[in-house]
Amino acid sequence: MPHRARPARNSPVFLALDPTLAPIAASPKQRAHCPLCREPVLSKCGEIVDWHWAHVVGGDCDPWSEPETPWHRWWKERAPVAWREVTVGEHRADIRRPDDRVVIELQHSPITADEIRTREAFYGHMVWLLDGRMLAHGMPQLGEPTPRLWQVRPGTWRWLWPRRVFQQARRKVFIDLGTSVLESKGFEDVSNRRPGRSGLANGFYVHGEVTTREAFLKRARLRAVEDEEQSQTVGFIAEWRSTPRARRPRSVRDLYRPVHAANLHRREFRSEELLRSWADRAPRADLSLLRWRGDGSVVEVDARPKSAGDQQPAE
Ligand SMILES: [Zn+2]
Repeated sequence: MPHRARPARNSPVFLALDPTLAPIAASPKQRAHCPLCREPVLSKCGEIVDWHWAHVVGGDCDPWSEPETPWHRWWKERAPVAWREVTVGEHRADIRRPDDRVVIELQHSPITADEIRTREAFYGHMVWLLDGRMLAHGMPQLGEPTPRLWQVRPGTWRWLWPRRVFQQARRKVFIDLGTSVLESKGFEDVSNRRPGRSGLANGFYVHGEVTTREAFLKRARLRAVEDEEQSQTVGFIAEWRSTPRARRPRSVRDLYRPVHAANLHRREFRSEELLRSWADRAPRADLSLLRWRGDGSVVEVDARPKSAGDQQPAE
């Protein structure tokens, strides 16, 4: 099959099959079988990684899977175990409701128009849930118009949104903004208009309705966030720019640029320990550190990894 030629990425499987073909979570020193290819998998239960299963031969048998982040994990944990990582043909759906067979496809990494079309055709009933937390980070609270976010009428918003490719989606697109979720009602190009009068900068916009995360979870029939999970830290996000010249927006004019215009890189870590070991090996210029919490909020952390903060960016 042609798509299998793509390089396999190491995406962990969280549920494998025991000898009776029942889903089983990883525990130390266990063997089981991959629910998709039925090849043997080994449990990986280290101190700093989430416990998971990995193929004995390495790699991942599903070319559609993307490297698992705490964000994927958090959303999957909102679903009952039987709804997670459901095998559909030769693929593994992130979440699939058993009764109406609606797939909730969690998408964090960039994707091509081809991949969007292929996946929609394959799953049929599906919705996209995109990770928009980092794009939303730094935006003032909803309710206050900014050059990037504009309330068209009560409940309906326009947001400068750089992932133009989702114009190709034919299924519903939801964007996780952290504490709220935006349901796309369409896309719009705004051009040849000077910012100021309308408040809209030139660019590609998504418009739609913003609801709370709780409302989305209820609608999707997923589990609400429990009290003790609210303030629990879920992951750490390192954000950096690869060139010292392109720094964080400083002037009002910079705010009119889509946040992705500069060489902004982001990477998410499951623990502070993993983040530090990455920062030690690969220090970056202009690094900032964010903490993503269980209530959906993203907060900036003052303490930056020491080795990264001490590095002077190289021209
Ligand atoms: Zn497999």
